[in-house]
Amino acid sequence: MNNPCIFATYLKPIEYAMATNRTFTMIKPDAVTDGHTGSITKMIEAAGFRIVAMKMTLLTPERAGQFYEVHKERPFYDDLKKIMSASHIVAMILEKENAVADFRKLIGATNPANADAGTIRKLYARSLESNAVHGSDSDENAAIEGSFFFSRTEQF
Ligand code: ATP
Ligand code: MG
Repeated sequence: MNNPCIFATYLKPIEYAMATNRTFTMIKPDAVTDGHTGSITKMIEAAGFRIVAMKMTLLTPERAGQFYEVHKERPFYDDLKKIMSASHIVAMILEKENAVADFRKLIGATNPANADAGTIRKLYARSLESNAVHGSDSDENAAIEGSFFFSRTEQF
């Protein structure tokens, strides 16, 4: 039991099994302000996602910048920080088999003009910059983003 290798062998499969079933989303300020929180949440549940954690909160420009740090060299980074901190958001951790890929399908393309009919962004986004929802792009980022907003005791 004191052997760390044995300990790691037991832990790893559990960690991976959990990660593949979860994704993280935010209903962005534009969609919350436009009164779409209920409709979007209803679509998420109707598509078979279980809500593991949920909260309404406000990002500062600094925290929005940390969240989207991967885009810090992009020309739209400053606007993204402003838009994401303009008013409150609703953050959620979601669970479903194949959660990351299935959720990206449900939300549609980044630019709502290119999103498939019936997707969340097609229905509720204002524009490329204010595109209603965020969805994690990998299992690894889903875990990082979930813990950016929620402690273990806030996840059910
Ligand atoms: P998100 O990470 O919010 O789920 P995404 O993964 O579909 O969106 P990303 O490439 O990660 O797209 O971009 C993050 C966000 O930055 C987008 O949701 C969008 O609001 C904004 N964005 C992306 N590309 C552009 C662009 N060319 N011009 C302006 N804003 C952009
Ligand atoms: Mg992204």
